[in-house]
Amino acid sequence: NSVVAIVGRPNVGKSTIFNRLVGERISIVEDIPGVTRDRIYAQAEWLNTRFNLIDTGGIEIGDEPLLVQMREQAQVAIDEADVIVFIVNAKEGITAADEEVAKLLFKSNKPVVLAVNKVDNPEMRAEIYEYYSLGFGEPFPISGAHGLGLGDLLDEVVKHFPTFSEEEEDEDTIYFSLIGRPNVGKSSLVNALLNEDRVIVSDIEGTTRDAIDTHLKRDGQNYVIIDTAGMRKRGKVYETTEKYSVLRALKAIERSDVVLVLIDAETGIREQDKKIAGYAHEAGRGIVIVVNKWDTVETDEKTMKEYEEKIRAHFQYLDYAPIVFLSAKTKKRIHTLLPMVKEASENHAKRIATNVLNDVIMDAIAMNPTPTVKGKRLKVLYATQVAVKPPSFVVFVNEPELMHFSYQRFLENKIRDAFGFVGTPIKIFARKR
Ligand code: GDP
Repeated sequence: NSVVAIVGRPNVGKSTIFNRLVGERISIVEDIPGVTRDRIYAQAEWLNTRFNLIDTGGIEIGDEPLLVQMREQAQVAIDEADVIVFIVNAKEGITAADEEVAKLLFKSNKPVVLAVNKVDNPEMRAEIYEYYSLGFGEPFPISGAHGLGLGDLLDEVVKHFPTFSEEEEDEDTIYFSLIGRPNVGKSSLVNALLNEDRVIVSDIEGTTRDAIDTHLKRDGQNYVIIDTAGMRKRGKVYETTEKYSVLRALKAIERSDVVLVLIDAETGIREQDKKIAGYAHEAGRGIVIVVNKWDTVETDEKTMKEYEEKIRAHFQYLDYAPIVFLSAKTKKRIHTLLPMVKEASENHAKRIATNVLNDVIMDAIAMNPTPTVKGKRLKVLYATQVAVKPPSFVVFVNEPELMHFSYQRFLENKIRDAFGFVGTPIKIFARKR
C-alpha cells in the first residue's frame, strides 16, 4: 500500500482531517493493530485504492521547541510517505512556520499536495490563490470540520501513487521483520544473521521500492529482511520516540509474513514489549519470539524453562509462537533462527483440505460434545478453510450465538494439534448455515 502523510504546523487541523479520512472506517479496519489506540497510522480507502495514512501531528518529539518538532514531523513524512498532504490554515494565511515546513518538503522531491483547510464556505474559495506562492501548484480548499473538498483532494493524492506492478512480491520469498524496543538488539541481530556462514546476502538495493530491504538466501530459500537499513542508520532524534518506532514497526509488520518479536533478556519484559507484540499478533502475522542477549543470563536448563514460563504468562495470546533464546553478540543459536522463520511462514500459508479438516472437527465433537445454551444445542454442519496468511476457517453452524468462546477455543486447539500451526495465529469464524 502507498503511504500518505499529513503534515503542517500545529492547529491547522491535521488530526481532524486524519479522522475524517479514516474516521468512519476505522472500526472496520480491524486488521491493523494499535491503530485505534495510537491514532497516528491507519488504513483508508479511496476509489477502491487502499492506502495508509500517517498523522505526523501525533508524533510528539519530547519537549523540543515547536520549530524542532515541526521539522522532525516533516522529516518523518519525507522518510516514510509516498505522497505528502501539506495542510495550511485559510483563516491565518501563510505564516513563517508554513514557509519553514514548505522549504523542507520542497527539498524532499516527494509529491506534495497542498490543502488549504478551514475553507468552511464557498465565499472563502476566492482567497486561496495566495497559496500558489508556496510552490506546490494548485491549492485544494477543504474543510475538515465540515468534510468539504476531501474528494477532490484525494483524487489528486491518488494520482501520485507509485505503481508497484513491476515489483510484485515474490510468492516464494519469505518477508520478515524484527520488532522490539530500542536497544533490544535488532540491528545487532540483523548483522549477526547476515554474517552467518550459510547465508548469502545479495545487495540489490535501489531496485526495489524500499531500498532498505535486505535480500538473502539460505539453503535455497530466499528471504527479505524488511527495514534493515532503517535499523542500521540511526541517531536521528525522532527515531527514538516511541510513537515513531511504533509507526516503523507497523509499517514493517504490514509487509511481513513473519515477525520476530525481540525481548531483551538483560532487562526483562516491559510494558512496551507487550504492546509491540500485540501489534504483531493482531495483524495476524506469523510470529517467533526471540529472547536476545541470552549471554548476559547465568543459565542452566532450568533458567530457560523459567524464562519461557514467564514469557508465556505475559504473552498468553502468543501461545502459538515458538521462543528462541539466543545472543546476537556471541552468535549462540543464531543458526536456528532462519529455519524457524521458514517453518512459521510455511504454517502461515498452509492450506488444509476440506475433507481432512472435517474429519478432525467431527472427531473433536465426538470427544467433547457441542454446548447447549438455554436448551438449544450448537450443531456444527461442516468447516472449510477460507483464507491463508493467516489460516482462517469458517465453521457453519445452526446458530452462531451458540458457539461459546471456550468451545471455539477447543476447536482451535484441535485444529492446531492436528495440523501443527506452529508460529502462526489461526482464525475461526462461526457462520449460520
Ligand atoms: P536496536 O536498537 O534494537 O537495533 O539495538 P542494537 O542492535 O543497537 O543493540 C543495542 C545494544 O545492545 C548495543 O550496545 C549492542 O552491542 C547490545 N547487544 C545487542 N545484542 C546483544 C547480545 O546478544 N548480547 C549482549 N550482551 N549485548 C547485545
